[in-house]
Amino acid sequence: MKVLKLSAQGLPQSWISLEQAVIHYAAGEVRWESGRRIAVFRGGTNAQTGEQSQIAINSIIGTRGVPNINPFQLRPGLTNAKLFQRDRNVCAYCGNHFHEEALTREHIIPFAQKGVDTWMNVVTACRPCNHRKSHRTPEQARMPLLYAPYVPSLWEDFILRNRRILADQMEFLMAHVPKSSRLLA
Ligand SMILES: [Zn+2]
Repeated sequence: MKVLKLSAQGLPQSWISLEQAVIHYAAGEVRWESGRRIAVFRGGTNAQTGEQSQIAINSIIGTRGVPNINPFQLRPGLTNAKLFQRDRNVCAYCGNHFHEEALTREHIIPFAQKGVDTWMNVVTACRPCNHRKSHRTPEQARMPLLYAPYVPSLWEDFILRNRRILADQMEFLMAHVPKSSRLLA
């Protein structure tokens, strides 16, 4: 379970562990909370009042401090896990749905023809299709793409990065996802 950490302005910063969230709470860095309470940590007992200190953690927190990412410069890192999720585990050539282990990162313009390893040049493909297409472009192989590649937005990238997103976190992130996203399909 991860906490969605946002800047004070509400831009996603990172997925953090409960322990990291506790540190933000204890340091008084949590400006606001959203979502619901997901954990309570209990600390020592106050000698004067006899009360046990506790820190309640919410699923979404806004922290003060300078954001460590600029969303306008952000280029979401490309990983197979995120790529397959972007493409909903569907092969771009045969249109079938596969388990992750059966999928590959397919370069639309192959490396052999100076293709690059970027979001716009990759799609999800099953092994047989990837093998059949080989070092050819879709035109050369006569294997048209069934869907187009795209670069995930900042908010989409946060969805793609975490496989165990809580419902309220998903709702928050989805509210910012562009209408063109396949995640909304
Ligand atoms: Zn295929």
